[in-house]
Amino acid sequence: MEVIVKRSKRRKKTIQARMVQGRMEVLAPMHISDAVLQDHISRLKARMAEHEFPRSDEHLQARANLMNQKYFQGALTWNSICYSSRQEHRRGSCSFYAKTIRISDRLAKYPQWVEDYVIVHELAHLLEPNHGQEFKALVMQYPLAERAIGFLMATEALDRRPS
Ligand SMILES: [Zn+2]
Repeated sequence: MEVIVKRSKRRKKTIQARMVQGRMEVLAPMHISDAVLQDHISRLKARMAEHEFPRSDEHLQARANLMNQKYFQGALTWNSICYSSRQEHRRGSCSFYAKTIRISDRLAKYPQWVEDYVIVHELAHLLEPNHGQEFKALVMQYPLAERAIGFLMATEALDRRPS
């Protein structure tokens, strides 16, 4: 997770963290030492990771509803969205006619903003079965699409590396 530290003279004691576009922004007092700050950040990260996992099919449904409202004017309908352990190299799949979406369970260990991108991608297939220009325009409505594609390419390359 990318972490951005912002120190402020006005801030006296408290350290605060918030998620901004998939990055953790840490607001800290000017005088706090790097060691104390790093210790704090690692605890914050652990707490956030706990918060994000485990993810369930209900969680997928909730994210899909949110993405539908945000990027498709709530116009999409589907019959089901669930995790699948049988996607192999695919991140997800969408059956255009059955209106069923499967998301690879590998995605559950990635940051939420990356999983959201894959959900937007599969939702867009409800309108456009192929990957043409109109499909791309739909997916690019998600502001972190390019970042998510980069994250996935890098992470999947590492996953495939023989150990
Ligand atoms: Zn696709």
